[in-house]
Amino acid sequence: MQQEVVVVGGGMCGMYVAYQLAKHRPDTVVTLLEQSEQLGGTYGSIWDEHGDAHDFGMHLFYEACDERVDAPLREILPLEDWHIWPGIQKDVAGLYWQGRLQTNSHYLDLRSLPDAVRESLRQSLFDAVHSNANWQGAASAGEYLTNKFGADLAERYFAPVLQHLWHARPDELAPYALRMVSMDRVIWSDHDEWVDGSSDERYRAAIAIPDQRKLPPGVRTSPQRALYPKRYGFGHYIKQFEAKLVDLGVKVVRLAKISGLSVQADQRIVVDWSALGESKQVTADWLYWAVSPFALLKSLDASSVLPSADMPHHLGFAHFHLRHAPKMEDLYYFYCYDPGLNVFRVTNFSAYCATAATEQGYPVCVEMHYPSDAAAPTVEQCLADAKRALVKLGVTTEEDIVATGPGHIHPFGFPRPTLKNQQAFAEVRSRLNDAGSKRIVLGGVAPDQGRFFLHEILLAAANDVERIINE
Ligand SMILES: Cc1cc2nc3c(=O)[nH]c(=O)nc-3n(C[C@H](O)[C@H](O)[C@H](O)COP(=O)(O)OP(=O)(O)OC[C@H]3O[C@@H](n4cnc5c(N)ncnc54)[C@H](O)[C@@H]3O)c2cc1C
Repeated sequence: MQQEVVVVGGGMCGMYVAYQLAKHRPDTVVTLLEQSEQLGGTYGSIWDEHGDAHDFGMHLFYEACDERVDAPLREILPLEDWHIWPGIQKDVAGLYWQGRLQTNSHYLDLRSLPDAVRESLRQSLFDAVHSNANWQGAASAGEYLTNKFGADLAERYFAPVLQHLWHARPDELAPYALRMVSMDRVIWSDHDEWVDGSSDERYRAAIAIPDQRKLPPGVRTSPQRALYPKRYGFGHYIKQFEAKLVDLGVKVVRLAKISGLSVQADQRIVVDWSALGESKQVTADWLYWAVSPFALLKSLDASSVLPSADMPHHLGFAHFHLRHAPKMEDLYYFYCYDPGLNVFRVTNFSAYCATAATEQGYPVCVEMHYPSDAAAPTVEQCLADAKRALVKLGVTTEEDIVATGPGHIHPFGFPRPTLKNQQAFAEVRSRLNDAGSKRIVLGGVAPDQGRFFLHEILLAAANDVERIINE
């Protein structure tokens, strides 16, 4: 029997679901509703006035190591059109911490601390490393850090960085906050000492190799690779993806606005939407909701009072072209853990995409975070702050910046991984389960389930698609 499915949200998650349904159930009528002018969400690109694409910071595709998720990528863009980064090249990352750019690793490198400080930390660190304290099941980032590294290290070194990044204490943050950046290990020893210790699983889980590029063969067991299109700009891939959706018969609607949602007695969902003067009503057998569940609750019941949540950081993207390669060695990106610059991450696109550097120069992107209680920045402010920061961080000189822009302020900001937000999500999910329909499926980021990275989102979506196809 022909099914009608409405997918809301044209990011990679919604696009994937629409694609799989249209491909594997060709009798399904799929409508994909996207509220902005373009598909792709954070995996789209900013297009400048010359038609050139600029990504929203570093966005590689990390394989899910599940063909249901990984195969569509190759179906949309042939394998030879992808850069494929295996093993330790999957993610070459660093960080700026305590006034220094660390290019050896994206874990806190504690070897630079004064000897006396290291001595004072050593006992509690290794007591924790060799204890049976359970960090995997920790209820908060604070508990995770204390159980894994000891209270001293957690309070003296991790807490200030987390405060800077998320404006919250470790005990206010969900454990996945530590995975969003890379804070689940520290660097303590030199290479040989690490090799000696690393036969112990607990040591290896807590202590990182000092130079990421020297990881001995066999230590990394995951086959996961990173992919990036050979043609610079993920948005080109998104355009190809959209064309494929249209070929498969998916009705793609941009600038769509949901004006009403209601659930019928038979569990089907009536969706009212409008776009560019067109208004439509669809009675959907399934509604795949790949955007904020808070908006879903409001759409189903405008009078519902949402649980209180921590507001996202304002998020800006600032692009520059540099005359010379940025001074960050072969790093794809680095996080900034020092306060005062509003910088979250700096991306060097030419480190993982050979066509990124052109006669215009070397493209870099600075992701800027501004606290939610401050006024939203303008594009000009974001570009000016980011430019100053690039010079201060030593990535380039003012003279070397040959082009500034484009800049972009993200409409939703960067979600903060706090326990309060996790609980708010869980509450919204449970209220939706009570009030909604079994035929409304919640996809996308799910902090209450620790789901943030794209491959995690797509793995969950692959299971959802199977459910929709088989029920
Ligand atoms: C700044 C940032 C950086 C990130 N970096 C990475 C990374 O490097 N690697 C990684 O794996 N993950 C990263 N993530 C996580 C990221 O959210 C996911 O990887 C992935 O992009 C999520 O895809 P999505 O389709 O669920 O959401 P999104 O990409 O956010 O797409 C959602 C889409 O829905 C649209 N939309 C929103 N509301 C509505 C509505 N009411 N009606 C219709 N459409 C709507 C939006 O315009 C958007 O196009 C990042 C997240 C952010 C915010």
